Parts: sequence; structure tokens; C-alpha cells
Amino acid sequence: MPLICHSIHMADRNGSVCRAHMSVAERRARSQLAQLRRQRGVIRGTLLVRQRKCGKANCRCGRGEGHESLFLVISQNGRTRQLFVPKAWESRVRLWVEDYHRVRGLLEQISRLYWDKVRKRQG
Ligand SMILES: [Zn+2]
Repeated sequence: MPLICHSIHMADRNGSVCRAHMSVAERRARSQLAQLRRQRGVIRGTLLVRQRKCGKANCRCGRGEGHESLFLVISQNGRTRQLFVPKAWESRVRLWVEDYHRVRGLLEQISRLYWDKVRKRQG
């Protein structure tokens, strides 16, 4: 789609901003963000190792220490939820958790640029 820029200096009323008028910092952050969103999963949460009881009769975990297991813990609407992460899922879940922080960081960078635009009245 050809980009025709109607507004030379200002974002339009819908908040759309012409790419040609974005700063280098903004363009870089946006393209990293777009790449993360296109290609990778994201998941919010903290990974914690906890002891877990497997429930099998006669397993050692029934009498004392459980099996070390990985859980993804989040707080949602004020409630804490936790999700068991099977071994086979661990590496991808770790990447998704890291990518969530990357996405947050990039959004924060862009947000600061726009904070300054409003403050300086520079569309
Ligand atoms: Zn067990």
C-alpha cells in the first residue's frame, strides 16, 4: 500500500503517524516490535521452581519432598494463578516469557517518545 502523507508534521486525528516522519529511534523500536509480534509467542508470568506431588501411590514425593517442577505464575485480576510447565515445554515457555518483557520494553520506549511529543506539542 503506497503511503501518502497528508499531514506533514502532525499525527492525524485518528492518531495515525506517517512512517516517513518517525524518528530513527521510533522506527527501530517499531520494527523490532513488529518482528516479535509476527514470529514469536509471548506470555506474561514469572517462572518458579516448586515442589510438586505427582499423586502416584508409593512415590517418594508422597512422603516428604516433592518433584522439582516448573510453574508459570501470574496475577490476573488480583488473583494468583499458576500453571505447571512440562519439561518438554520449558525452553519455549522461557523464550515466550523473555519476549513478553522485550515487547513491554519496546512499547515503553515508543510510549516515552510519544510522551515527549505531547509535552513539546510536536506531532
Ligand atoms: Zn511423585
